Amino acid sequence: MKIVMLGAPGAGKGTQAKMIAAKYSIPHISTGDIFRANIKNGTELGKKAKTYMDQGALVPDELTLELIMDRFKQDDCKNGYVLDGFPRTIPQAEALTKALAAEGDKLDYAVNVEVPDENIVNRMSGRRACLSCGGTYHVVYNPPKSEGVCDACGGGLVLRDDDKPETVAKRLEVYHTQTQPLIEYYAGEKILKEVDGTKDVADVFADITAILA
Ligand code: ADP
Ligand code: ADP
Ligand code: ZN
Repeated sequence: MKIVMLGAPGAGKGTQAKMIAAKYSIPHISTGDIFRANIKNGTELGKKAKTYMDQGALVPDELTLELIMDRFKQDDCKNGYVLDGFPRTIPQAEALTKALAAEGDKLDYAVNVEVPDENIVNRMSGRRACLSCGGTYHVVYNPPKSEGVCDACGGGLVLRDDDKPETVAKRLEVYHTQTQPLIEYYAGEKILKEVDGTKDVADVFADITAILA
């Protein structure tokens, strides 16, 4: 099964993608997590990506595509994947369609997690991220068992620089101009599914699994 998660920053794509990955035994691929791991490890790619990410801008398509196409070559992608944060632009979506078509393949679903902008700032300011394993928490809606510590790996939790309100506003603007058009793109491909992302995590997941079943 090959799934793309769509939705604004903070809509809950990562939270749901992790649950989908566990249930269907497919890898969760987050381009944001891969970029952040590169930044943490001080790679060339990380250095390039950081300048864009800190501003709330998108990393250029060329760099992003190189990264993701490389990731697809890994063995664990054989049975599919759930993509979170990719594609984020029409050229990225077109490149993905083309790469899959070259292998006689296609995506199964594009799941759009709908959350209005008003709810987003709240979600982002309360989000705490584990930079070691990509785990995400929320101080109110999904707190870790022990404050500031990742349940999954014991790593320290941080408020991402780009989750500060100034940058969130910029990221929302970028979302509306560059990423939201993907909803129409995947509607055209006849694989778009919409879920109400304002519900509780478990209820959103139930709605998603009903679609994927
Ligand atoms: P969120 O989960 O809040 O939407 P991400 O972790 O997906 O955030 O992305 C964080 C940042 O990483 C983005 O603001 C952007 O700078 C960069 N990024 C992640 N994925 C992509 C992509 N597919 N194309 C371009 N930039 C990306
Ligand atoms: P995205 O990957 O779309 O940027 P995340 O999955 O990281 O979003 O979720 C953003 C924040 O909102 C996190 O702090 C997360 O714990 C919280 N969150 C996710 N889903 C829900 C939900 N359905 N209700 C309330 N909070 C949520
Ligand atoms: Zn962790």
